[in-house]
Amino acid sequence: MLKNMCSEDYIKLEDEIGAQTYSPLNLIIERAEGIWLYDINGNKYLDCTSAFSSVNQGHCHPGLLEVFIKQAGEMTQISRALRNTQLPLFFKEITAITGKEKVLPMNTGAEGVETAIKLARKWAYTVKGIEKDKAEIIVCERNFHGRTTTVISFSSNEAYKDNFGPLTPGFKIIPFGDIKALENAITPNTCAFLTEPIQGEGGVQVPPEGFLKQAENLCRENNVLLMLDEIQTGWGRTGKMFAHQYENVDPDVLIVGKSLSGGFYPVSAVLADSKIMDLFKPGEHGSTFAGNPLGCAVARKAMEVLQEENLAENAATQGDYLMEKLKTVNNPHIKEVRGKGLFIAIELDEPARPYCDKLLEKGVICKETQKNIIRIAPPLIITREQVDFLFTNLQDVFNR
Ligand SMILES: *Cc1c(COP(=O)(O)O)cnc(C)c1O
Repeated sequence: MLKNMCSEDYIKLEDEIGAQTYSPLNLIIERAEGIWLYDINGNKYLDCTSAFSSVNQGHCHPGLLEVFIKQAGEMTQISRALRNTQLPLFFKEITAITGKEKVLPMNTGAEGVETAIKLARKWAYTVKGIEKDKAEIIVCERNFHGRTTTVISFSSNEAYKDNFGPLTPGFKIIPFGDIKALENAITPNTCAFLTEPIQGEGGVQVPPEGFLKQAENLCRENNVLLMLDEIQTGWGRTGKMFAHQYENVDPDVLIVGKSLSGGFYPVSAVLADSKIMDLFKPGEHGSTFAGNPLGCAVARKAMEVLQEENLAENAATQGDYLMEKLKTVNNPHIKEVRGKGLFIAIELDEPARPYCDKLLEKGVICKETQKNIIRIAPPLIITREQVDFLFTNLQDVFNR
């Protein structure tokens, strides 16, 4: 082992041995706490990525850490071949918070999406009466639902799917937020419409007001399932516990992940009412780690923290405040500032990376998405003073 490794040593090791599927910023984090990240050179950064919104509760939340350590000392992995004391309580609490009757736990977001697709297809053949293997699911351009072979099959991003074929059939892509396009795309073979309420990786794309409600109505009229991927928009990020609550929408299938475990452990879940979820029978779906007691204990606490600390409310308050201030920034290259809660994007008419690099020098970590969009999504525990610190630095970098 190398002693006293410096940044360059870590970078060299990682890049020489690891598959190059990311292009990370070149700083080596060794500690994280709340909204802050600390690198090995003693620098401190405000984290505006929240690890893709998987630590809405803040890094290493002390309450979560306590539960994690306690549970790890009692039992960690009990497969679904047996029962455990954590799983039923997790089920009770996640159905209470989402308002759905039933839940199916998984680990990663992409697995949750895969699960929802299987559920929609089974519903298509056994309930709606669509001819075997003809079911279609409508999705949106610029979607992001994960990286498995089926999920990339309906991505509109070439880099995600080029050379990874043959791709899974059965998907139709429409422009995001275009209700007419959705109406035209529905056929008797359509079993589901799958969308993010606000597209995350697509660059914090907010659909026209009313789109989700209109989509829900169209789905109901045509006997089509509305499946919402709230893996990134859920758990308070947009200023409500779930983004669909802004339009009083009731999805048939809800997919959650990321901050469901506050960054301690991968936990995702698919939620639906009994009439849909009960279509799954023993032996038809599963995962070795899904529903394990360590994940369940952490997820239970993660949901409790969101509620007890009113993090959705804080996201709304601080997000509105930051958005108002951002709109005063004077820079001809800013095309739009948009978002909801603490899910904010600054879209530029030029590359965003140089701005991110300058922000990094000031101790603020923002990572560009879609080349020209800066996403601002700090942990939801951020205070007014910390938002002021963040804004001052953004202003310094953007003001001309
Ligand atoms: C991150 C994300 C996923 C995939 O989750 P993983 O845990 O990375 O598999 C799916 N959908 C949305 C909207 C996401 O943001």
